[in-house]
Amino acid sequence: MPRLGVIGWPVSHSRSPAMFAAAFAECGMEDWSYQRLPVAPELFDETAGALGASGFVGANVTIPHKQAALALADSASDAATAIGAANTLSFAADGSIAAENTDAPGLIAAIGRLTDLPAHPSALVLGAGGSARAAVWALLDAGAAAVSIWNRTPGRASALAAELGARAVPAPVAADLLVNCTSVGLQRTATDADALNQLDLTADQVGSYACVVDLVYGGAPARPTPLLAAARAHGADAVDGLEVLVAQGALSFELWTGRRAPIEQMRRGAGIDSGG
Ligand code: NAP
Repeated sequence: MPRLGVIGWPVSHSRSPAMFAAAFAECGMEDWSYQRLPVAPELFDETAGALGASGFVGANVTIPHKQAALALADSASDAATAIGAANTLSFAADGSIAAENTDAPGLIAAIGRLTDLPAHPSALVLGAGGSARAAVWALLDAGAAAVSIWNRTPGRASALAAELGARAVPAPVAADLLVNCTSVGLQRTATDADALNQLDLTADQVGSYACVVDLVYGGAPARPTPLLAAARAHGADAVDGLEVLVAQGALSFELWTGRRAPIEQMRRGAGIDSGG
């Protein structure tokens, strides 16, 4: 029975198991399984390194392990190497591990849903972790006119900007596109205003961006994250993290199985309204 999973800490919020279950059902792959793998950072190398011998064909990697995933792999694609992070690991029969990054093309595919975006937009990326790396690289690779990076810990934004050819900023700046790559909004304990405050933004400021993407997705289908709620209240063109989840998950599915991903079934499995 081929096994797949998603490694994260936390990972209980992940919709990937439901999304992959829908893909397996559509493709008649009843013997395949996909599970959550909650793994603390200090156990990542040991646990991920043992998955191949436990029947795992591959694993998605999420917060906070994407850089560790690249470091663990025996080989990596050019894109994952340039990004400095991986979200997709493949375990070969000989015990070797290969790393890929499907977050980058997944983000670009999801951004394709934004109708108000100019061809060469300016962008502000919030965050400097594994998914921010992929977003900055993908936006520059796709021809963004300029990419700025804001992060809670400014030194990480400066280091990432210098590495990838972007610009670190001490506070959020104006841009055509705002992409949240922090985990703010994942734990729904703060008020919406407090959550935006953690991003150095007010709801009115969020409304000044024509297009907003939040990689974080809400806990229930009808409950947008604080960032998307503010963006939509101001009439911005907004993309939920579930769209990015489906786009990157479909690419991982194709890499592992060699089959075409059933996108519509994966969207429904992830909890996106059929009309969304
Ligand atoms: P990561 O490498 O651990 O990075 C976390 C980032 O969030 C860092 O920049 C960190 O800033 C920032 N952060 C954490 N808590 C914060 C707070 N209270 N206030 C301000 N900033 C805070 O994680 P990641 O892998 O990049 O993932 C980030 C988020 O994106 C996660 O929620 C993940 O689920 C989501 N994601 C979704 C998709 C999708 O398909 N939809 C894909 C990738 C990632 P510091 O540097 O200051 O610590």
